[in-house]
Amino acid sequence: MFSSLLKTPSVVFSAYVLISSFSAISAVSTDAHLPPLIKWQGQSEKLMTTRGDLVTDFEKSLGKSTPNYVDTMVYLEKLALSNKSQFSIKTIGVSSQKRAIKMLIASEKGTLENDKPTVLLQAGIHSGEIDGKDASFMLLRDISEGKRDDILKRVNILFIPILNVDGHERSSRFNRINQRGPIEMGFRTNSKNLNLNRDYTKLDTPGVKAIADVVNKYNPDLYVDIHVTDGADYQYDITYGYMPVFASESPLISKVLDEKFKPLLDNKLAKSGHIPGPLVFVMNKRDFKQGLAGWVATPRYSNGWGDLRNLPTILVENHSLKPYKQRVLGTYVFIDGIIDALSKYDSELSNAVKHEQTHLPSDLVVKRGYSKQADLMSFKGVKYETFHSELSGHKEVRYIGEKVQYDNLPIYWQKEVKAKVKVPKAYYIPSQYADVVARLKLQGITVKQVNGDFKGLQQISVTDFEFDKMPFEGRMRVSANFDYKKLPQISLNNWYKVETQQTLGKLAVHLLQPEATDSFFQWGDFNTIFQRTEYVENYALVPFANNMLENNPAIAKEFNHKLATDSNFKGSDKARLNWLYQQTPFYDKGYLKYPVLIESN
Ligand SMILES: [Zn+2]
Repeated sequence: MFSSLLKTPSVVFSAYVLISSFSAISAVSTDAHLPPLIKWQGQSEKLMTTRGDLVTDFEKSLGKSTPNYVDTMVYLEKLALSNKSQFSIKTIGVSSQKRAIKMLIASEKGTLENDKPTVLLQAGIHSGEIDGKDASFMLLRDISEGKRDDILKRVNILFIPILNVDGHERSSRFNRINQRGPIEMGFRTNSKNLNLNRDYTKLDTPGVKAIADVVNKYNPDLYVDIHVTDGADYQYDITYGYMPVFASESPLISKVLDEKFKPLLDNKLAKSGHIPGPLVFVMNKRDFKQGLAGWVATPRYSNGWGDLRNLPTILVENHSLKPYKQRVLGTYVFIDGIIDALSKYDSELSNAVKHEQTHLPSDLVVKRGYSKQADLMSFKGVKYETFHSELSGHKEVRYIGEKVQYDNLPIYWQKEVKAKVKVPKAYYIPSQYADVVARLKLQGITVKQVNGDFKGLQQISVTDFEFDKMPFEGRMRVSANFDYKKLPQISLNNWYKVETQQTLGKLAVHLLQPEATDSFFQWGDFNTIFQRTEYVENYALVPFANNMLENNPAIAKEFNHKLATDSNFKGSDKARLNWLYQQTPFYDKGYLKYPVLIESN
């Protein structure tokens, strides 16, 4: 019954002995278990070279491997030295394990003080998905060697070869079972097991802190975050996406990406032999034909965050089942296309950005769901069959490496709006939350210090709440329902004020509005409000409450009403005394109160 499993190790072992005697770069086959390949050839293969001082490690390995951190940094230095008048290197951050996170800056005259648009290319946020590093190295090499002297005439480039540098060094042949190469690849999360692509609002990792800093300092016109995706087999090798127009909080930007960038990119990729496709996921991995899931990123992801910052952001997801060489070459062509599109549509894009920066919506969507009704799309799929697996005891899928065209494949987009919030005028944060204030500032949000008397501010109370059962990204996340109450005039000393009428106003709302999925509140930054730390003794409460009910008919009436209508309340001494305690002035006024106050519009 387990024969196929028992056979595998000996097959792999003999393949290893055979291949390793051929060449140093070949190794044990770690992809024999993957679905069969559809043979690929493309014009882009001509981009690889074996000549010159700047042949990349990827090229030396014939497209099979990627250099480790040290060799990557050596190559980066060599590249910068080869073209000193146009390239320079900056250290943008230091990882938890003390590795420098570096960025190469490329511009025509060695300065970013020019009218050209700037693209930020980011590789290795998930360091096993490292295609962007080796592709960009080839492109920058071609610039340095004069083969592509057109590029810096049109754009400036900021290039981060490895963002998750510590994960990159947790390198193994066995890090990504669904992926065809490179031979050794890095790990998804960082040295503290944090996923950088969930960190864009909370900013716990040095890597994403560095990105926030780079974006604020260099103000790129376009941000490209390069990954590798799995999930299903299909023909596409380079898939990419951005916030869909219907879900975008900067829809004019999405429209330019959709109407101008996408046709140019798809055309360029297709001409070079690649198969560009949409960024999609599968509703049911055991039954592809049920359709695709049209995902919408929340702000914890690069593309969701970029959308709220009015920063045009493209998420590239190369298909993990395609060989490393094909993916890297496709990424080169993609970046080349990005440069074409950015230089051609610079004014359309920057006009859209300017508009979105100054147009603050009156409300923002904080929760979405999948539409019940599917849209239909054509899709270049791969045939599959199903079989009963003795191992899982379940029906499983086997992709068979033959093309199939779906003309009307259902796709379920997250079009259903489940919750919205009104955009307030401002938030007020007490001084003890300096850590929250520091992260707002790191995001680039303007925060002012305020003192004095304020009228009409609202306090948000938690009415009921639920903690996740497990930590997520090292945090105990919480979701809650809330009650809003207008406060009488209050005096604030050394508080911080965040106005929403600012360039990053939409991001500020998503960080500070506790209903928002990726707010500081839901990430657990205010978890101390869930703890009551002063208590009451019944011998003190009962006489106090008796006196209170005698002197306060409104409270007495409500108490009697609750006794008459709520049998649980009536039957619980604990509930009765707790309610009475809440009515006294002794009750903890900070308990379940969100410390940030709101000024409505
Ligand atoms: Zn990824």
